[in-house]
Amino acid sequence: MILQELSDAFGVSGNEEEVRQIVLRHSKEHVDEVKIDTIGNVLATKKGTGAAGLRVMVTAHMDEVGFMVVDHDSNGLLGFRSIGIHPMVTPGSRLVVGPKKLPGVVGIEPIHMAWGASGYADIKKTDSLRVDIGADSKSSAQGKAPLGAYMTFDTKFTELSEKIVRGKAFDDRVGCAVLIDLLAGDPFPFDLLAAFTVQEEVGLRGATVAAFALEPDVAFALEGTICNDLPQEPGEDQTPVTRLGAGPAISVMDRSMIADRRLVNHLVETAKAHDIPYQIKAPGAGGTDAGAIHQSRAGIPSAVVSTPCRYIHGPAAIMNLDDFNNVIRLMREALKALTPAVLER
Ligand SMILES: [Zn+2]
Repeated sequence: MILQELSDAFGVSGNEEEVRQIVLRHSKEHVDEVKIDTIGNVLATKKGTGAAGLRVMVTAHMDEVGFMVVDHDSNGLLGFRSIGIHPMVTPGSRLVVGPKKLPGVVGIEPIHMAWGASGYADIKKTDSLRVDIGADSKSSAQGKAPLGAYMTFDTKFTELSEKIVRGKAFDDRVGCAVLIDLLAGDPFPFDLLAAFTVQEEVGLRGATVAAFALEPDVAFALEGTICNDLPQEPGEDQTPVTRLGAGPAISVMDRSMIADRRLVNHLVETAKAHDIPYQIKAPGAGGTDAGAIHQSRAGIPSAVVSTPCRYIHGPAAIMNLDDFNNVIRLMREALKALTPAVLER
């Protein structure tokens, strides 16, 4: 399963090579042109039938959240900075460390010691945390995990049931898997410009470069998004951002953009016409590559379709494969029916 391969790959922002190779291997035979741009994005073109005169960009980001080594203690422990992960969710986590993929663990105080004034609740910065790779001196630690070495969660893709899978980096390897599937299918009425982007998690940097280069008429970002459909405090009744199993999540507004309503309507109408379940992502939370793309050049009408993933930016996320397959269905049908008329005012 391509999703499994992508989820298990090691690719914190700026270090996407392993993911890039998987993407290239699985998409090469389905596209007419493919290149790696200066920043590291994979840009692939799948020629269309020419029925619709549009340049359509679809993106998914290859990078995942993780950590970087920034210091070495005299006792061989590693100081680190977080890339997109709250320090509080890291103590006790097993990590994969550096290019040699050494095993490590984020140190944690046992419960016996943690009842004092500070306790676990005090973990607000990574400064107070260390990663243990079993090195017994500063020089040994420096040799095994030099300054700038990347680290990510040591979490293997697992099927929990027929539909439910657990893994790391579903944000946004699920988008990459959807995009590969779209490339592998029949041609669309227009040239499909696929961009597998780098460095989304640190500020939509790859997408900024890709959108400028591709200069599309319209863009879709594919994401793995927040899913907080969990029990709430008694008396609380907040609409979750998305719900697991409720279908593709269509964005209206998030922190990075207001989605183009013509495209939102097109996606909703497509879902209804093909009996594909869908949900509107509760406005407000998160940001995606579309935040950069829609402001590129003279502006690019953009929309976002996401697969709900519980516990993203943590050690392991949970996803429903029905949602994943329905995102593929919705995107395929919406693209097939996309014409310049959709964008008329
Ligand atoms: Zn993401």
